[in-house]
Amino acid sequence: MIVEAAFLVDSLAIATFALAAGASAVMTWIIMEPCIDVRDRACVDVCPVDCIYEIDDDGKSVQGVQADAGRDKMLYIHPEECIDCGACEPVCPVDAIVMDEEVPDKWNDFIAYNYKLSGLTYEG
Ligand code: SF4
Ligand code: SF4
Repeated sequence: MIVEAAFLVDSLAIATFALAAGASAVMTWIIMEPCIDVRDRACVDVCPVDCIYEIDDDGKSVQGVQADAGRDKMLYIHPEECIDCGACEPVCPVDAIVMDEEVPDKWNDFIAYNYKLSGLTYEG
């Protein structure tokens, strides 16, 4: 518990420093296709700011956005809530989570999809 608390404090400090230093935005992480139908929520359990969400049984995101057909059985990350700590990446059993700038070309549209489900528009 102490280790988890220290990790959270460090993560928040990094995000605060980045914003104070004038960074336009903290990097975000993206959930991609391999999560579909897996949804074991391992990432949710380790996220220190609870910014990983699940689409409900009606195909709607927590922010009320309709999911794409065939892409409703997955989780997504809210890009503006993610503090770029990286804690979720190593616990994913199917390597579905990567930093936005490292998303492979074949799954590039999942960047915009995480934004869309979060009620945001991806500017590129
Ligand atoms: S990198 Fe992952 S664990 Fe860390 S805040 Fe973002 S979504 Fe949550
Ligand atoms: S850990 Fe990976 S497979 Fe499991 S819910 Fe998160 S993104 Fe999906």
